[in-house]
Parts: sequence; C-alpha cells; structure tokens
Amino acid sequence: MRLRHKPWANDFITEHSQYAISNPEQYKGKWHEIFGNHNPIHIEVGTGKGQFLAGMSKQNPDINYIGIELFDSVIVAAVQKAVDLQLENFKLLNVNAKDLSEYFDGNEIHRVYLNFSDPWPKVRHAKRRLTYKDFLSLYEKILIKGGEIHFKTDNQGLFEYSLISFSEYGLQLKYLSLDLHNSDFEGNIMTEYEEKFSGKGQRIYRVEAKYMN
Ligand code: SAM
Repeated sequence: MRLRHKPWANDFITEHSQYAISNPEQYKGKWHEIFGNHNPIHIEVGTGKGQFLAGMSKQNPDINYIGIELFDSVIVAAVQKAVDLQLENFKLLNVNAKDLSEYFDGNEIHRVYLNFSDPWPKVRHAKRRLTYKDFLSLYEKILIKGGEIHFKTDNQGLFEYSLISFSEYGLQLKYLSLDLHNSDFEGNIMTEYEEKFSGKGQRIYRVEAKYMN
C-alpha cells in the first residue's frame, strides 16, 4: 500500500465518530450496543479503503461489519464511504490488528475476512503475515466456536504459506479456489486490490478456514 501523508485524515476520522469508533476498548463485549442489535459481527483485518466492506454491508443488512485498518491515511477513504452510504451496519477502527483482543471479547465475532493482506515475502518477516500462527490464535480468541476466516489474495506465495499455516493450526479448509474469477463462486465483492490485480490479469486465490474447537 503506497501511503500518502494526509495531515487532515485524523481530524476527518475524529469528526465522523459515528462510523470510525475512536474508543473501541470501551465496547469490548458490548458491540451490540453500538449496532443496536444482536446480529452477527464480521470483521475485515487490513480493510484498506473499505470497498469490500462497504459492498458487503449494503448486500447483507442483517450482518454487522467492522473494518480494521492501521493507517489513518488509508482508512479515511473507508470512512468517507461509510459517511456517503450512511449504513448502520458498517463501522471502522483505526487500530493495529495485533491488539484485537483488547477490543473484542471471546465469542463476539462470527467471521474474519483477510483480503490481499501484505505478503511480507522475507522469511524473517513471516511473523508479520496476518495468517501467521500468532494471528490465528488471536482470531480464535475473539471468534465464536466454529468461526471462520475467509481469505483472498493474488499472491501465490502468501496463499501457499497460509494454507500450510491454517492446516498446521488445525483449521478445516473449505471452498478452495485457485482462480476465483473463473469459478462458480457467486456474489463476490471485489476489494480495491482485487480490481487492480485482476485487471492486470492476475489470478485470485480464495479459501475458507474453519476453527474446529
Ligand atoms: N484489503 C484491502 C484490499 O484488498 O484492497 C487492502 C489491502 S492492502 C495490501 C493491506 C492493508 O492491510 C493495508 O491497508 C495495511 O495498512 C493493512 N494492515 C496491515 N497490517 C495491519 C495490521 N496489523 N493491523 C491493521 N491493518 C493492517
């Protein structure tokens, strides 16, 4: 992700606290209060500019969506989408995913989406990959029993690494596709990166991984 410094981004995010929740630790175990219902909550880790979650929120009004993004200069575009769409079921957190268990309680989340996560190709950076075992353990802490990770990427190396990481962790793999856009998968919502890379002819890989305990 190429970052442009946007000095106004933080102010914009703060001004739209209805969508960009500024004190997420206060809602640990109480996210239903923010949404005003007990619908399932799905999060996207590394949501970027938010196109995927904006589309999912529109498509599935009975599911609550929360986008997690580290950089304010990036998430600001997702906040703008939330403001434009005025969807009650779409919220954003400008936080680091490594702290997820500070914001969500056990059993609070039904599904984790990972879309086009940074590949961190160097072996010495493997721990930073969002499919590294420590992250899988973190997601397990906040997911319901039998919760799932839905993962898409254009990066073959990261995909292969992640399949091994999921399997070694004991997750059950489902609906594995080595070419999502030429598969019979229905209702795919494209992310910004997905549009960019598939537009260049790259294949998109996808898998669902289910926690068994
Ligand atoms: N999911 C979007 C898409 O497909 O268009 C963005 C993909 S971009 C390659 C990966 C995003 O993940 C970046 O915006 C990056 O800042 C974010 N990210 C990486 N590590 C993160 C972390 N630990 N916590 C929160 N966001 C993270």
